Amino acid sequence: MSETLEDLLRESRSFPPSAEFTAQANAKPGIHAQAEADFQGFWHRQALDRIDWYTPPTEILDDSNPPFFKWFSDGELNLSYNCLDLHLESSGNKVAYHWVGEPGDTRTITYQDLYDEVCRFANALKSLGVSKGDRVAIYMGMIPELSVAMLACARIGAVHSVVFGGFSSDSLADRILDADAKVVVTQDGAWRGGNVVPLKANADVSLARTPGVESVVVVRRTDHGVDMTEGRDIWYHDLMEDKSAECEPERLNAEDPLYILYTSGTTGKPKGIVHTQGGYLTGVTTTHSFVFDLKPDDDVYWCAADIGWVTGHSYIVYGPLANRTTGVMYEGAPNHPDFDRLWHIIEDYGVTIFYTAPTAIRAFMKWGDEYPARHDLSSLRLLGTVGEPINPEAWIWYQKHIGPESCPIVDTWWQTETGGIMISPLPGVTATKPGSATMPMPGIAADVVDEEGNSVGIPGGGFLVLTRPWPHMARTIWGDDQRYIDTYWTRFPGRYFPGDGAKRDEDGYFWLLGRVDDVMLVSGHNISTMEVESALVSHPAVAEAAVVGRKDDLTGQAIAAFVTLRGTAEGDEDLIAELRQHVSDHIGPIAKPKSIVFTPDLPKTRSGKIMRRLLKDISEHRKLGDVTTLANAAVVEEIARKSDAAGDD
Ligand code: ATP
Ligand code: MG
Repeated sequence: MSETLEDLLRESRSFPPSAEFTAQANAKPGIHAQAEADFQGFWHRQALDRIDWYTPPTEILDDSNPPFFKWFSDGELNLSYNCLDLHLESSGNKVAYHWVGEPGDTRTITYQDLYDEVCRFANALKSLGVSKGDRVAIYMGMIPELSVAMLACARIGAVHSVVFGGFSSDSLADRILDADAKVVVTQDGAWRGGNVVPLKANADVSLARTPGVESVVVVRRTDHGVDMTEGRDIWYHDLMEDKSAECEPERLNAEDPLYILYTSGTTGKPKGIVHTQGGYLTGVTTTHSFVFDLKPDDDVYWCAADIGWVTGHSYIVYGPLANRTTGVMYEGAPNHPDFDRLWHIIEDYGVTIFYTAPTAIRAFMKWGDEYPARHDLSSLRLLGTVGEPINPEAWIWYQKHIGPESCPIVDTWWQTETGGIMISPLPGVTATKPGSATMPMPGIAADVVDEEGNSVGIPGGGFLVLTRPWPHMARTIWGDDQRYIDTYWTRFPGRYFPGDGAKRDEDGYFWLLGRVDDVMLVSGHNISTMEVESALVSHPAVAEAAVVGRKDDLTGQAIAAFVTLRGTAEGDEDLIAELRQHVSDHIGPIAKPKSIVFTPDLPKTRSGKIMRRLLKDISEHRKLGDVTTLANAAVVEEIARKSDAAGDD
C-alpha cells in the first residue's frame, strides 16, 4: 500500500476521471475559463438561473466599501421559499430527507412535510414575538426539527445561530450572549453512542447566565426527563398544536443577515461569522450542483457532517434543499451499534454521493477494512471530503474501500468564512491527485504568496490568498467589524487571507498544508506539519498522527510527533526508530521527528480536527489553555504524562 502511494506521489500521477464522468465533462467544456472571462457575469447568471427572486437583482458586486462587499444588493428573495414552496408543485411527494435515528427508528420527510412543518414553526416563532432581524439560538442534535427551525427562521427573516450539540453549556452561553439571542430552540436529549446527551439540562445551565432569553422551545426526542421553567420553557409539540401550515414568506433583501455561525475554535476564541441571503444561496446552490455533479431526480445524497458546522448549513440544508435533492440525515455515532453503521445506511438507501471528513476516514481505516466490506456500496458514484487536509494514504483507502474504485473523490477546501466550497475538483472535469484539492472553483480566484504578498509562482509554496470577492463570502464577524478586517484583510492588503498555507505543484494544483501557524521552522527549513503527518500515516502501523514544532535550543524548533496505531499494533522503541527512518526516507532527514509519543487518541475539536496548539503547549510544558472546545479532554492528561516521560532521540 505505501509503495503504491509512493509511486503515485513521486510520479505525481493523476487519477483520470472515469468514462462516465468524462462524458459529462464534454457536455460542459471550459466552465472555469468561461467563468474567468467575466466572473461577475458568471455569478449573476448563477443567481438568476438558480434562485426564484421576488425582485431579480440588477446590481452585481458593490465594492465601494472594501472589505465590506455586497452582492446582488437590490435583489429580494426568501430562502425558505426557494428550498420548499418552489418544489411543491412538481415534487411535493419527493423525499427531502431519509432520516435515520441512532436507536434504529426512521422517518421519511417529503418536501410537502417539510413545508408544512416549517410554516407551522415559523408561525410558532412569531407567536413568541420573534420578528425579522431577531436572533434565535438553536442547540440540537441531528433531528429533522433542526432543519425545520433553521428554515422557519429564514422564512420570517430571523437570524439563526446554530450551536453544535456537542458543545458545553459554557460554549452555548457565550454564543447566546454574543449574538444576544431572544429564543433558544433545543431538545430534551440527543442520542449519541447509545447514550442520551442531555441538551436541555446543559441549556438550563447556560440559561442561568443569559437573562436576555425570553423563551425556550424544547423538542421531545427521548424519554430523558427535563425541568421546564414556567413562563419560559415550552414543548415544541404543544407550541405547534394550533399553528397554521401556511406562513407567507418574508420578502428579504439579498444583504439581510441569514445566520451567524461560530467557527470551530481550532485556533482560539470562536468568531461569529455572518452570512447573508442572496449571495450565500447563489454560492451554495452553484457549488453543490457543480462539485457533486448533482442529478436531483436520481441521486441519493448524504453529507455526513453535523448541521452544527458550516458544512451542514451549506450542504445538508440550504444547498441541497434549494437544489431539490433527496438527502440522508443520520442522528448518531458512526460506530453505533457497530463500526459498519454508515455502510449499512448507504446500502439501505442506495446512497450515490457521500461527503465526509478526513478525521472520519482515518477512524474508518483504524477500525478495519472488514466493516465496509460487509456491505454492498456499489450505489456510490462520488465521494467527497472536507475539514482538514486529507493524507494521501487516507484518500487512497477511501477510494479503494468505500467507492467502487472508479469513484472520483472531491477534496473540497473551504471554511466557515467562505460559506461554500472554494477549491475542489469538478468530477469529470478535473483529474485528481490524492491529497490535492486541485483547482479553485469556477468564478473563484486564488493565489499562493510569500511573506511580502508576492505570488510565489508555479511550483511554489507559501500563504493561500483569495484574490477577489465572491458572493457567498462572510460579510463580517458579528458585532466586530474591526476583527473581521484584522483577521482576514490586513496581512495581505486587498486580498482575503484564510490563514492556511498551501503549495502549488508544477501542474498548478493546490495542496493545502493546514494553518500557517502549524508550519514549523527546523534549522532554517520550513516544514509543514501536514507533510510529516502524511509520511507517518503512510506507514502501515500508523492510523493517525499529529505533529508540532516545539522550542529547541539547537534547531529553533524540533519536531514532536504524536501517533495512534492501527488495530493491534504495539508501540515500542523499535517502532519509534522505524518511524523516524520512514519519515526520513519520505521527506528527508531534516523532517525526522525528534520525539514520538504513542497515544490511543489525539486531542480533537468537537468537529474532529486535531488540536495542535494543545500538543504544542504539552510539548513545551506550558499550562494548558482553553480545552472547552475539545471532544476528548481526558486523553490530554495521558498524552502529557507520556510526553514528559518520553526522551528525545
Ligand atoms: P477556527 O477558525 O475557529 O480556528 P476552523 O478553522 O477549524 O476553526 P472551520 O471554518 O470549520 O473552522 O474550518 C476551516 C478550516 O479547515 C480551513 O481554514 C482549513 O484549515 C481546514 N480545511 C477545510 N477543508 C480542507 C481541505 N479540503 N483541505 C485542507 N484543509 C481544509
Ligand atoms: Mg478557521
